[in-house]
Amino acid sequence: LRINGNRLWQSIMDMAVIGATNDGHVCRLALTDADKQARDLFVRWCRDAGCRVGIDRMGNIFARRPGKDGSRPPVLTGSHLDTQPPGGRFDGAYGVMAGLEVIRTLNDLDYVTEAPVEVVVWTNGEGQRFFPSMVGSGVFSKAISLDTGLGCADGDGKTVGEELKRIGYSGDRTRTGHPVHAFLEAHLEQGPVLEKEERMIGVATGAFGLRWYEVEVSGEGSRASFTPMQARRDALVGAARIVAEVNEIGNAYLPNASATVGELHVEPNSRNVVPGNARLSVDLRHSEIAVLDAMEKDLEGAIVRIGRETKLDMSLRATVDLSPTRFAPECIGAIREEAEKQGIGYRDMVSVSGHDACYLARVAPAGMIFIRCSGSRDGVKDLVSPAAAAAGCNVLLGAVIRLANR
Ligand SMILES: [Zn+2]
Repeated sequence: LRINGNRLWQSIMDMAVIGATNDGHVCRLALTDADKQARDLFVRWCRDAGCRVGIDRMGNIFARRPGKDGSRPPVLTGSHLDTQPPGGRFDGAYGVMAGLEVIRTLNDLDYVTEAPVEVVVWTNGEGQRFFPSMVGSGVFSKAISLDTGLGCADGDGKTVGEELKRIGYSGDRTRTGHPVHAFLEAHLEQGPVLEKEERMIGVATGAFGLRWYEVEVSGEGSRASFTPMQARRDALVGAARIVAEVNEIGNAYLPNASATVGELHVEPNSRNVVPGNARLSVDLRHSEIAVLDAMEKDLEGAIVRIGRETKLDMSLRATVDLSPTRFAPECIGAIREEAEKQGIGYRDMVSVSGHDACYLARVAPAGMIFIRCSGSRDGVKDLVSPAAAAAGCNVLLGAVIRLANR
C-alpha cells in the first residue's frame, strides 16, 4: 500500500499557484478570492475522486469516501488552506493534499475501509485575517460558539459569516460538528528538530497550551518639547518594561516555555510626542497547565508592579486560552506502528504551535504527523522535500486504514 508521491507533489504545487507571490511564497488569506479559488479546486478534485462533498455553516468542507459500514463515523483527516501573508506552500495545504492523496490511493487500490474516510478543510486555520485562529475547527469542536465564529471580523469590519456568503461557502449543513471516529492531521514541523536529527517524521504526542492577552498601557500624551522628564507619563516606557519582563518569564520556565510580545501599537506614534497610549499582545506557551498558570501569575504580578512604579494605568485582558493537548494513544500508536513498519525514521514530539488537531482532540481521538522541513525558522519559507512529503503521506495512509478498520 503506497501513495503516489508524484501526484501528491503535483497537487501541492498546483494548489500553491493560487495566491502565489513573485518570491515563491503564497498569500491566501482566509475567505478572500484566492481562498475561494483554492476551495473550488479542492472540491473539484474531491468530486473527481468520487467523494460526496458537504459544507457546514462555518465553511468547513468535508469530502467523504464511503466505507463498508455507512453507519460508522468517519476517520477524518485534513488541515487548512488559508495562509499567512505571505505564507509557505506547504503549511496547511500539505495536510489537505495528503488527505486527498490517501483517498485517491484507496481508489487506485479499490480498497474499501470499514468506516468512511473524510478529508476536511478547516476555515481560517491561520487566524491572520480573522481573530482568533482555528475558528472553523473551534466551532466544530464546540470550543467556540457558531455565533462567535461567524461574527469574527477582519480589520475592515467584514465578518466571517458575510465573507463565507460572498464566496459561496456558507454551507447548508445545519449541524456543525458531526461524530468523528478519529482525526489525523499531517503538517510540516515548522521547527528544526527533525532536520537536525535527520528523521523524516515526528509523531506528536501533544501540543503546548497557549494563552493570549492584550495589555493596554495608558499614560498622558504630551508634546516632547513642552514636557519635562519628571512630569512625563510615557506609556511606551511602561510597555517596554513589560516586553522585557515577558521575555524574562519565558526564560524562567525553560525548557518547555515560550513567551512573546509580537505586536505593539503606540499612540500617537509621532517622534516628538510622548506616547499617551500603548497596546501590546502577549503569547505564553507551555506543555504543562500548572506552569502556564505560574507564568500567567508572573505576568499579572509584573503588570501591577510596573504600573505602580511608572504611575501608568495598565490593564490585562485574556483573549485565547488553549489547554495543553494530549493526543490519543490509539492515534499515536497507529502512526508509530506505520512508521516502524515502513522503516521511516521518526521521533515523538510535542507541538509548540496550535493546530486544528488540538481542538479536534476535545471531541475525538486525535493525532498529528509532522514532516521534516527546513528554512522554516522565519515562519515563512517551508522547504519540504518530495521524499518527506511522500513519507508523511504513506504513514498517514497506513494510519487511516488502521483506524478505519478498527
Ligand atoms: Zn498550519
